[in-house]
Amino acid sequence: MIDINSNILLIYTGGTIGMVENKSTGALEPFNFDHLYANFPEMERLNFNVDTYLFDPPIDSSDITFESWYQIVKIIEANYIKYDGFVILHGTDTMAYTASALSFMLENLTKPVILTGSQLPIGKLRTDGKENLITALEIAADKDQNNNPKVPEVAVYMQNLLMRGNRTTKLNADNFSAFRSPNCPFLAETGIEFRYNNHVIIKPDYSKETDFNYILDGNVVILKLFPGISSEAVKAHLNIPELKGVVLETFGSGNSPLFPWFTSLLQDAINRGIIIVNVSQCLFGSVEMHRYQNGQKLEKLGVISGHDLTTEAALAKMMYLFGRDYSSSEVNRLMQVALSGELSL
Ligand code: ASP
Repeated sequence: MIDINSNILLIYTGGTIGMVENKSTGALEPFNFDHLYANFPEMERLNFNVDTYLFDPPIDSSDITFESWYQIVKIIEANYIKYDGFVILHGTDTMAYTASALSFMLENLTKPVILTGSQLPIGKLRTDGKENLITALEIAADKDQNNNPKVPEVAVYMQNLLMRGNRTTKLNADNFSAFRSPNCPFLAETGIEFRYNNHVIIKPDYSKETDFNYILDGNVVILKLFPGISSEAVKAHLNIPELKGVVLETFGSGNSPLFPWFTSLLQDAINRGIIIVNVSQCLFGSVEMHRYQNGQKLEKLGVISGHDLTTEAALAKMMYLFGRDYSSSEVNRLMQVALSGELSL
């Protein structure tokens, strides 16, 4: 039930959703959120309180950096007691990365953190932003019979679908329904009613404190394989100074070429303590390195399985684990267990 006493903090980072058309020039300009209710009178009809926090200046999500993620975590930490939930308006382009990073940075989260955005600006007649924003706010304010939040998770809400944030990926540059969580059931689907998949939603330990983490390590890289990839390209990735972790995007169920130059470059990197995690270029399904000889070879070299992690989540998880200063063997172990519902085992 939506709790009329709920207090929700709406954090606007930037992106298409917060744009309006300048009537005289036709250009899209950031919406003045100080006048949110004037620009968006439907907000008045929500029966709970919504306060706003604005990034100044608002940013296109392609410009998101670690600093932006730290800023979001800082705002949530500073307001954690005061608010029942948080809605983050964010550009859709890198939303899956931000959602993945936040899911690790906010440990033992006990309140909803719902990211949403839109493909068309809120100031456009056909906008998808209004429904996304109103429903995301209502989900953030929704409580169960024990007065606990229905969704104490970092989630992405777009076009009737509520998804675990660290399972999402942006699939469509055009369609309103731009996101999916290929290997995780939806947390909820909204139509006339909100239908929650309660058995999927993570239940935190309410007796424990939430931890807010601020240190991420950027010494990681994504190496996407393709037929014909050159040894120079692989070498250039694996010889990045200070490199600690590689997300290796492989074929099918976790296969790579077996060329001796390739396997010896990987072996050399692993011997230097670099963690290589194998994720599939396929959206659906999981890495199963034992299935083919080409996968088995990777396993023997010491490449670890990313199971059904998305690339975005694998990358964010490594940034977080290296940021916590875990040893290589701990990172190796923790990459293969679910810390925040990011993989199925
Ligand atoms: N380029 C925009 C962004 O990600 C697109 C959007 O808002 O969806 O910030």
